Amino acid sequence: MWLKIEPKEPLLLGEVRADSQFLVGQTYIPGRVLRGAWAEWLARKGIDDVQILNTVGRVRIGNFFPAAEWRHLRYALPLPMSALSCKRRGGFAREPHPERRGHGVVDTLLPHLVYYLLKEQGARFPVPFSLLCQQCGDRMETFSGFYAVYQDGTDHFVHFRPRFHGQTKVALSRYRRASAEGMLYTASALSPRVSAPDRSDGDTALVFIGRVLPPVDDGALSSFKEALAKVALGALHTRGYGRVEVRDADVDLPPLRQRFEAFNQTLRALWQDIRRLAANAQGLPLEPQGLYFSVDLLASGVFQEQGIPTLVPTLPIGGHVLKPLFWMTRPDMASGWSTAWGLPKPTNLAARMRSAYVYRWDGSQEDLIPALQALEEQGIGQRRDEGFGECLICHPFHQEVEEK
Ligand SMILES: [Zn+2]
Repeated sequence: MWLKIEPKEPLLLGEVRADSQFLVGQTYIPGRVLRGAWAEWLARKGIDDVQILNTVGRVRIGNFFPAAEWRHLRYALPLPMSALSCKRRGGFAREPHPERRGHGVVDTLLPHLVYYLLKEQGARFPVPFSLLCQQCGDRMETFSGFYAVYQDGTDHFVHFRPRFHGQTKVALSRYRRASAEGMLYTASALSPRVSAPDRSDGDTALVFIGRVLPPVDDGALSSFKEALAKVALGALHTRGYGRVEVRDADVDLPPLRQRFEAFNQTLRALWQDIRRLAANAQGLPLEPQGLYFSVDLLASGVFQEQGIPTLVPTLPIGGHVLKPLFWMTRPDMASGWSTAWGLPKPTNLAARMRSAYVYRWDGSQEDLIPALQALEEQGIGQRRDEGFGECLICHPFHQEVEEK
């Protein structure tokens, strides 16, 4: 179930780092912030702690990603780590506003994967794998942040540009119970208005799109929506910050099966193209063996392998333990606060949001799809009740192997 959250006031979101006087600004709404607001609302209504934990524990609330409200907003997501753009003029070539257009953004996960699989089959390539800008020939670099896809006759890709409301000093209520007592942080609030994708002078509403999983009963959902209508989000929420409206979102992200099939089709097409580049093309298989899928992190993930922290998750599927054969990830630290005790939780090594992992499956597609559906609903790894490990199977941006 997808929801849309529209801030009506500036929004102060962020996290405190031990060594900083600054609140590290976040431009998305973490699911745990929403869960915290819900718990706070239930507490204000006089409901006891155990019942609160039971209620909010029944629903998984994902991260909510930012976009400008404009035309038909199809979906908003973080770009995977495999997205690259021109070093000289980065940005989508399909931005509606001509001045914001860059030389295009391309996803490199599938080309890298095919190159890797063909090398495994003994392919010899005359040149190493590298990508240059199709328009100017310059080098490409990682292109990060959030993007949204809009339907307006054609699909437009728009990179999210936050607008800040200005700096302010803040004492964080969430942390008041711990060592940060009385400490003031400098923070920048997000403005509830952002520039319109097609105009340089006009503006439009900032909205956040995210999921509530698994399909929840109406009682829990209406309690959650009621909380968001009553409790402001983030810091300074008693002083004109953080009031939001929530409504159902008309999101048309392609369904999992369609994303999975498109992922494998693109992989087969790239296989044909890249195979031809090999010096020994004649001796190489005409098609890849097996089925492939990616797991893309929409939140940091906390993973362990036999008790040891790792950045690389294994997946138990249909009695097998699948290990990824190719991945892109970077380390992060997972911290958190216990809702029940108001105390910091242990800090874990985590894989960052936007990490991408590719797995191979040698069984049938019909056995695999329900297992992938369950992964997407439940998330992967540890501390999922705190929102870690939210994932998407076969992120649609992996199909963008031509600059968009
Ligand atoms: Zn370029």
